[in-house]
Amino acid sequence: AEFLGGAAAYPRWVRVNALKTTIEDQLATTFATFTRVLTVGEVTASPGKFLYVDEHIPNLLAISPSFEITKTDAYKSGAVILQDKASCFPAYLLDPRSEDGDVIDSCSAPGNKTTHLAAIVHSRVPEREECTQTVYAFEKDPKRARTLEKMVNLAGAKEITRMSFGQDFLRVDPNSELFANVGCLLLDPSCSGSGIVGRDEMPPIYLPDIPGTFKKPLPSSNRKRKRDDSDTGKNTSQPIMVDDDGKETLVSSEKELEARLEALSSFQLTLLLHAFKFPAAKKITYSTCSIHAQENEQVVLKALRSDIAKERGWRILRREQQVRGLREWPVRGSPEASDVDSEVAEACIRSYKDDGRGVMGFFVAGFVRDVKPAFADG
Ligand code: SAM
Repeated sequence: AEFLGGAAAYPRWVRVNALKTTIEDQLATTFATFTRVLTVGEVTASPGKFLYVDEHIPNLLAISPSFEITKTDAYKSGAVILQDKASCFPAYLLDPRSEDGDVIDSCSAPGNKTTHLAAIVHSRVPEREECTQTVYAFEKDPKRARTLEKMVNLAGAKEITRMSFGQDFLRVDPNSELFANVGCLLLDPSCSGSGIVGRDEMPPIYLPDIPGTFKKPLPSSNRKRKRDDSDTGKNTSQPIMVDDDGKETLVSSEKELEARLEALSSFQLTLLLHAFKFPAAKKITYSTCSIHAQENEQVVLKALRSDIAKERGWRILRREQQVRGLREWPVRGSPEASDVDSEVAEACIRSYKDDGRGVMGFFVAGFVRDVKPAFADG
């Protein structure tokens, strides 16, 4: 019973990096001594070395968390990357194909999704042909950009990726000649991080970079629990917020929490509307590791209702249009949060920590539109 509790209930998710190796090679080498199981639950059900090949995302494995993967050559060489299953959804959902042209990752560091995008793009280059697509990776925070650079280099994604360090995506000109061929954008902006597993114990990897961003969000059962706590006068789940000057303060009221979520969601919406402006763009994914509807379905709805979405023909990527695996993923958007728009709710992909699927709390939605060859919007 002890083995099932806490962090042990989460497997270690391992993305096999197609830029360096194949899943078959890894199964035959790094994981040769593992016992293959058919459900993710079996990986953590008992001690030992178990491995599950994911049914939704290609090149993804779940392995026993006690295995010291960071000591393996595969990890040290970038052949495998530790990346939560849900964090693999956006690049896979975006599904960049050669005919889609270049790709933008607007908020890149530490680079999990950038390197995943590069791997997908690379895997589609026909044998003996050169890759003609570029993944443009922007990262506003110069320190975090250094981590991005390291990850891109280690993953062997350098040739495909052009990084722009310290670059605010909101200041990137969509009409620049350089981005004339950008057909796909992945948006994974700063968020409250309320879906992150073990967030309370972890160093703040999702550093706050806009005023009012949480450094430490409410734990999973958040709002309800917070209310319960306030009833008893205790406040074990108080999040810490970071002001412009880096000073930490505690969120003392539900009202304050709402105000901060509002600030985050307004930034997230601005980013999404900016992405809508790229003239050749036809696919966008928007994701957060937040469980709050304000940062998720609500942002999606506001974006869909915006003038720019209507002008340029942006629509939601409906469930039945999604790639195999994500179409089948059963956890969808919240109908209440989607203003009971069932098509939008179904199109939104969610995950919740502690629901037995072994993944973090996450949200992703896709947007599409038809771009006529001679599209000339300015
Ligand atoms: N996509 C990353 C991954 O999978 O490894 C995680 C991205 S993290 C959620 C958000 C990142 O966006 C942070 O590194 C933050 O510094 C960066 N960021 C925030 N606002 C930005 C902006 N306006 N332009 C570019 N990057 C931004």
